[in-house]
Order: sequence, then C-alpha cells, then structure tokens
Amino acid sequence: MQYYAAAEGWNRETIRQTQAVRLKNTVAQALRSPFYKEHLGKSGVSPADIRSCDDVRLLPFTTKDHLRNAYPDGLFAVPREEMVRFHASSGTTGAPTVICHTQDDLDTWADLMARCMHMVGMRKTDVFQNIAGYGLFTGGLGIHCGAERLGCLTIPAGVGNTRRQLMIIRDMGVTALHIIPSYALYLGNSLMDNGEDPRSLPPRIALIGAEPHTEEMRRRIEYLLGVKAYNSYGLSEMNGPGVAFECLAQNGLHVWEDAFIAEIVDPDSGENLPDGEIGELVMTTLTRRGMPVIRYRTRDLTRFLPGPCPCGRVHRRLERISGRVDDMFIVKGCNIYPMQVEQVLMSFPEVAENYMIILEHKDSMDHMRVQVEVRGEYFVEDMRVLTSLQKRIASRLRDEILMTPKVDLVEPNSLPRGEGKAKRVDDRRQEAP
Ligand code: ADP
Ligand code: ZN
Repeated sequence: MQYYAAAEGWNRETIRQTQAVRLKNTVAQALRSPFYKEHLGKSGVSPADIRSCDDVRLLPFTTKDHLRNAYPDGLFAVPREEMVRFHASSGTTGAPTVICHTQDDLDTWADLMARCMHMVGMRKTDVFQNIAGYGLFTGGLGIHCGAERLGCLTIPAGVGNTRRQLMIIRDMGVTALHIIPSYALYLGNSLMDNGEDPRSLPPRIALIGAEPHTEEMRRRIEYLLGVKAYNSYGLSEMNGPGVAFECLAQNGLHVWEDAFIAEIVDPDSGENLPDGEIGELVMTTLTRRGMPVIRYRTRDLTRFLPGPCPCGRVHRRLERISGRVDDMFIVKGCNIYPMQVEQVLMSFPEVAENYMIILEHKDSMDHMRVQVEVRGEYFVEDMRVLTSLQKRIASRLRDEILMTPKVDLVEPNSLPRGEGKAKRVDDRRQEAP
C-alpha cells in the first residue's frame, strides 16, 4: 500500500499514544487564548490531567455560540502577527464564525488535504479543477492548497459560469474535480439538455462534499458524469475539508486521528455514546497552534462504522453525515430529517435530482409539501402515469417519515437552485398570520 503520509500506516496503539501527547499540548496551547483561559479555567482541568486520549472527556465542550461570542480574536492562542490566513464558516445556520491559521497550521492542513486526494488515486499528473467558492469558504483555498501540495495542475475555477467550467474541463483535459453534489447534478443535466453526453468528459474522479447527500445521490453523480465520486467531510472550525474522507472502498470516511480526536455524543445529554450509535460528532484539533478548538459540537449526525476497512488504514471511519441536529423539523408530531426524504425520492428512477420541502401553517395545522422535479421523458407522459407516481412517492414517504406529505411533481429544472450549498427546506410556518 502506498501512503502519502506515514500516519496512514500507524496502528491503533501509535494513534492513541500520539493523540494523548498532542491533546496535552493542545490544552496547554489553548490556555494561551483568552477564551480557553477562562473556559478551561472554570472546568479546573489542566494539561497535567491529560494522560490518555480518553481524557478528552474531562474537557468542556466548545459550541458555535462560544466561537461567535469570542469574535474576532478571543480564541487566538498566538500573537496576531503570527496569523497568516483568515477563514469563516459559510454561515448556513446563522452568523459566521472566524478561524485564523498560522503558516504551520496551513502547511499541516494542505498535507491533510493532499493525503485525502492521494488516498482516492489522485497524483501529481492529474489536472484538478476546483469548482467551489473561493473567498472565506474553506472549500476554495483549502482544497486548492491540497491539490497544489500534491503537485497537481490546479485550476481555481470557482463557482458559476457553467459554460466556462465545461470549456476548461475539456480544453485542459481535467481528470479530477471538486464539486458540490447539487452542482455536479446540475452540470451533468445541463449538458444532457444540450444533447451532449456528460460521461464523455475527461474527469475520472470527483470529490464531493460540503453538503449532506445520500448514497443514491452519489451513485447518480457517478453514473451521470462517468466518475468515481468520493465523499469529503470537513468544517471550518476544524480547518475545513481534509477532516474525514472516503477511501477507494467508498464505505465510510476515515477521520485523520493523528490530527483530530472524534467523539460521538448524545446531542441532548452530551454523554459519549457507545461505538456504532448515531449521535452528534464532537471534534478536537490536535495539531493547530494558532487557534486550537477543543471538543467542538459540530451539530452533525453520524456514527463510527464498526470493523476494519479493506484499505488497511485503521483511522476510524464515520458513516456519511445523515444531517445536522438543527436540520430536523417536526410536522404533525413526526421528527423528520431532509435526508430521509431525499433517500425516498432518489429511489424513484422517474425523479430528477432537485427537490424542495415546503412547510406551511394553515388552518391551525402544519402542512408539508414536497416539490419534486420529474425527468423530462416522464413529464410528457399522460396524467394517469403522473398521478400514480405521485401516489407511490407519497406512500413511500409515509413509510419513511410516518406522515403523508403532499407531493407536487414539477418540470425538470424548474426549482430554484443557488451556486452554494443546496437549500432543501423552506419553512414558512413563522410567516403565517
Ligand atoms: P456552515 O456551518 O456555515 O455550513 P462550513 O462551511 O464550515 O459552515 O460547513 C461545514 C458543514 O457543512 C459541516 O458541519 C456539515 O454540516 C456540512 N458538510 C460538510 N461536508 C459534508 C459532507 N461531506 N456531508 C454532509 N455534510 C457536510
Ligand atoms: Zn479505507
């Protein structure tokens, strides 16, 4: 097995010992920041209390609100002049949070990212197009620097302008892409609409991430674009991309445990859950000097997958993220996650990739409506076929989410879609008179 980094070949014992040493250093480093001086101070835990990696559980959680309240530099553990890069989360769930990096932090991040790319078969001979927002969003520069570190010819294409994206892909013979899942489908479908075959495009690898998506969605992307698509997970508070990544086995995302400690906790009680149970992912940085973050509540739901990975790496695997704790909505007493809806929709070959869940409050009741784009070739069918499809979708949704939503079938490419992360739920209940 050819590894990019020696840490990929470590055994469990080496990982655990390294985590213990790095965690102790991280706590000592964090205490240099005004925020952690107070936050850790209150908990009474000192670096001397950290003897094993499991002692991470002695430490208090850090939440998004903590980071927001410490804006702009309350978590800086080095003087400001040592910082060389400023990033912020995309603010999907509210005000953004700021993360700054020293040059060493950026080097480590680029190495982690290059490691992920190498793991899925990218090499310096690849031509890599990064179709992601540059700027504060970490999927731009974060992925970019990883590809350059690996030695790829790296194209900072950014988002939008689909025609130009395609022109560069063809003219430069791009072999690997980074692309948000919803945009990958849009790109493929817009080519199909032009009577072209997206499978004939040169890329053979797509790194997809930044937003939740189902296994069915991945398979559709792979089929549509004729690529192997690998799930890339990260969040700005833990650098950004390069935290957990699928290997060639495409069965779970290896968390780089030499750089992070991952835990799964009960989102309500904060108690650590036994391995294999679904809960909220909590992450601790182990190598960051500029801005260490301890036991960060990601709000993302996942679990550790049991058993060894055929690739031989023992860094534990996370199941694909099934949603955010805050994504859950309640209609008529049923707790529903958007990914449950997506899973059902994508199992229908008649259904195209775009959908929207609309929640409304009418006649003193909550109502859920699912707008679903239907593939062009089915949309021209007669009404009876469409009505039957509508009923079958509603009934399968009821089996999954335990209530029957209204299903509207709409024409392909008629639902709004932005260039960034897809918005799947439009909750209009607060607007009701
Ligand atoms: P924001 O929280 O504002 O979206 P980030 O840009 O840092 O900020 O995005 C990180 C979040 O994006 C993660 O916490 C997660 O919810 C989501 N995310 C990132 N990668 C994936 C992925 N591969 N699968 C599912 N969700 C993902
Ligand atoms: Zn593996």
